[in-house]
Amino acid sequence: EEKYDKGLEKSRKTFGDRLNALFANFRTVDEDFFDDLEETLIGADVGYEMAVKLSDELRDEVKLRNAKSQQEVAQTIVEKLVNIYEAEGADENNEINFAPEGPTVILFVGVNGVGKTTTVGKLAHQYKEEGKKVVLAAADTFRAGAIEQLQVWGERAGVPVVAGKAQSDPAAVVYDAVQKAKRDHDDVLLVDTAGRLQNKVNLMNELEKIKRVIAREIPDAPHEVLLVLDSTTGQNALIQAKQFKETTAVSGIVLTKLDGTAKGGIVLAIRSELKVPVKLVGLGEQINDLQPFDANAFVYGLFK
Ligand code: GDP
Repeated sequence: EEKYDKGLEKSRKTFGDRLNALFANFRTVDEDFFDDLEETLIGADVGYEMAVKLSDELRDEVKLRNAKSQQEVAQTIVEKLVNIYEAEGADENNEINFAPEGPTVILFVGVNGVGKTTTVGKLAHQYKEEGKKVVLAAADTFRAGAIEQLQVWGERAGVPVVAGKAQSDPAAVVYDAVQKAKRDHDDVLLVDTAGRLQNKVNLMNELEKIKRVIAREIPDAPHEVLLVLDSTTGQNALIQAKQFKETTAVSGIVLTKLDGTAKGGIVLAIRSELKVPVKLVGLGEQINDLQPFDANAFVYGLFK
């Protein structure tokens, strides 16, 4: 809760402050009020459709509850945001899927710069702290410096990194990492992959090849394919996500840099437009700044 509090400061400033301003001028809940609310929601990047849907549902709910006071209306808004988020994904869960036995394999995909390597490092640290045996695979053999960057995170987290040479076949690196994880009875294998969308077909072929190599060695694996998105890119993150989803199956989203954006509402847009659960959120650059996504804590963090 504390992390959310700090990480959502910027979103709270725009979104929250605008809502507060809305309530400061609050006299009655009339059409003007809902128009302003809609604009505030769009400004927070929840997406146009979502904003309209939200204010429509709020209008009904306010009527239903006969909410008149500022506080009643504000409470209704918060509850509705949480409800809508949860309803959009009622059949999915936010938790990382672990293998019932043997190594759990988690693949991280996404374009360069979104925070993939950082997320792998943070999660490695978290699992290590929980007493799990963790290994990392440096399957981004394309971007200069990516292997070294992952090795730095491996050292920080105190976990081994399986790597090959720069420009070598990423699937071969993953194969070695899977062998190591099986041999050493590791609990979790985190795979950092390359992300260059300019070679979309190549990239997707590469991802499919990596998945095949993993599945051949460990049935049911990968247990998660997490698409990492940079929340500061706003609606662009949504476009990227749609492109990835078209070509590779994604089981969850990691939304990074929420601390660096005033548009935390993108979480709601992603949920409603992609139908993929946000499983983790990045709330800073430090090793501890990764949290499981919690719709309640998130919405309350926006309004606090
Ligand atoms: P990759 O190319 O996808 O592997 O991206 P990196 O992991 O190298 O991250 C790119 C930049 O984003 C780095 O400067 C990270 O420190 C930064 N970054 C990653 N996650 C977060 C986050 O949650 N918050 C903030 N503020 N910065 C982040």
